Amino acid sequence: MNLLIKNGYLIDPANKREGRFDLLIRDGKVKTISQNIKTKADRTIDASGLIVSPGFIDLHTHLREPGYEYKETIRTGTEAAAAGGFSSVVCMANTQPVNDNAVITEYIRNKAREEGRVNLFPLGAISKGLEGKVLSEIGQMAEAGIVGISDDGKTVMNSALMRKALQYAAGFNLLVVTHCEDESLSGEASINEGVVATELGLPGSPNAAEELMVARDIALAELTGAKLHIAHLTTAVGLELVTAAKKRGVRVTCEVTPHHLTLTDESVRDYHRFMKVRPPLRSEADQKALVRGLLNGTIDAIATDHAPHAPFEKEVEFVRAANGIVGLETCLPVCLSLLLKEMGKKKALPLLLEKLSRGPARILQEKNKGNLTPGSADADITLFDPEVDVVIDSSRFKSKARNCPFNGWKLKGKVRYTIVGGEVVYASNGKV
Ligand SMILES: [Zn+2]
Repeated sequence: MNLLIKNGYLIDPANKREGRFDLLIRDGKVKTISQNIKTKADRTIDASGLIVSPGFIDLHTHLREPGYEYKETIRTGTEAAAAGGFSSVVCMANTQPVNDNAVITEYIRNKAREEGRVNLFPLGAISKGLEGKVLSEIGQMAEAGIVGISDDGKTVMNSALMRKALQYAAGFNLLVVTHCEDESLSGEASINEGVVATELGLPGSPNAAEELMVARDIALAELTGAKLHIAHLTTAVGLELVTAAKKRGVRVTCEVTPHHLTLTDESVRDYHRFMKVRPPLRSEADQKALVRGLLNGTIDAIATDHAPHAPFEKEVEFVRAANGIVGLETCLPVCLSLLLKEMGKKKALPLLLEKLSRGPARILQEKNKGNLTPGSADADITLFDPEVDVVIDSSRFKSKARNCPFNGWKLKGKVRYTIVGGEVVYASNGKV
């Protein structure tokens, strides 16, 4: 099976290649990249006016299956991923039952093979039932195919257990993804501690709740030599801690979400439930620091923290509303529009693709993803139009969920095709 992509503008940050090239895919791999490929192909896509990039990889997706299929399933979640330009997603372990043993890992992987539209990399839980008490079956899950461990949604508050988890993970060469939140400080708060929280009369969670755990997990990664990835970082000080740790040679990376890059706690003023997310939207100073961290390369990846919920879980009073934002189908236009404003088109595109493809692939140690190296790269490719104006319309999402704070926003950028292993899994014109 050959697929030829003609006349696109190719950007491959990993190989520092950028320009007008044709790209030939054969048997699921990138075969040739050249100015004018004349080979006869089974299918040809005219990519005039489109950017051709390595497929996006989301390090942080909640697929909700098993257990919460009313929110999302492996099928609908991966359809949403494909529509958003993601050819791979890493899925979190806080399903029901929790992915804390090999049986659940195998269930997820089998379901993904049968019904998934994109590559699925599961994370196993650090602790059984996400309870923070006993380590889960990490070795057996590693054999069953997890790429790392995380109790995301919760923090392992017991430092001795966290140390043990990092030691185990290092032994299996697994990534440890941490949700950093000192739960004794944050309590039930779901808004940033500050002026807005005070004025609304809502309990707030201070930046320190996050920073304490960022500092602790960095210290434990330094102690154990394990590979630590900090999920959804939101504060300026947290970013400084990561920067300093990297300088010391600690194996630490971090991600930010599109919503923490673009929204602040001011957005919560009208008790907007779709702005309720954990960690909370922070102050403008923090948001600006995250953008700077993205521009100067401190932040390794953009990850969506796609967290689908059913309407009844959001349409209640603010304090009772579920935390979370769906992000797979808005990530490209939200982040592209932000970067276009910050740095202009020439610089924005390579940086964005670095953070959406090459960065995550390096964190996952997936050598054949996140690049378009002929002869070795998997043919996971995203084609998008960076010029077209779009209005976000959550009613048209492939995701089951609609909890999107960007609904109605006018932005730039639209995914046209998503290709996984040489197969078109999404086409905006319906021609899959
Ligand atoms: Zn999450």
